[in-house]
Amino acid sequence: MKNVIQFGDQQVSYLLKRSKRKSLGIEVNSDGQLIVTAPDYIPIDKIEWALDKRQSWILEKIKEKSDNLQIQPKRKYVSGESINLFGRQYYLKIVESDTSSISIVDDQIMASLASEDDPREKIEDWLLKELNNVVSNKLETCLGRFNDIHEIVQNPIFKIKRMKRRWGSCSAKGEISLNFNLFAAPAECIEYIICHELTHLIHPNHSDEFYHSLKRLCPNYQALKTQLDDKTVIYD
Ligand SMILES: [Zn+2]
Repeated sequence: MKNVIQFGDQQVSYLLKRSKRKSLGIEVNSDGQLIVTAPDYIPIDKIEWALDKRQSWILEKIKEKSDNLQIQPKRKYVSGESINLFGRQYYLKIVESDTSSISIVDDQIMASLASEDDPREKIEDWLLKELNNVVSNKLETCLGRFNDIHEIVQNPIFKIKRMKRRWGSCSAKGEISLNFNLFAAPAECIEYIICHELTHLIHPNHSDEFYHSLKRLCPNYQALKTQLDDKTVIYD
């Protein structure tokens, strides 16, 4: 059941699940959705009273887990469109050609495409390749630092995926996913995300210990996080 609770001037919707458990469960899932699990006999006003008592924790969790990502509508991949690549703005120029190739010329991303090419597919493949290069580069640096500090030689699995709401994630099995849209971010912000996800290998949650370790790995992580969340626009 979908409900809405008012926290000050902020409305928060939550999913109420009734269950046989004896106590009230409050969690914020990875999409920033508040989920409340409660036994049948607890009335709504009691549930909301309990939520109200934990409002600062809930609001903080929602902010942390959900979108400070700035999401724009889908890209069109047409000439003249601007594309940010590693923190620099470029303009896309598409020209028809017998063979396809994409390269950077001054402030342009020059895409020579054959008539049968799908511009989106070709350009996104190229962006992915560029991102992969930066990620493998940064990963080497970060892993070196990480292993020096923690003396664990880890070879985590890295994947680049399309993710709607997060820059990266680390699964319980230690698989790290990075958002495809990171190609828009400055390289040092990508380094920060890699450090952040590597730190999750030893501290699954955003605990004080997590931030302590992250700071050792990436001393200016706060500034980089702000830069990433506030200045890097991603596309749907
Ligand atoms: Zn995290």
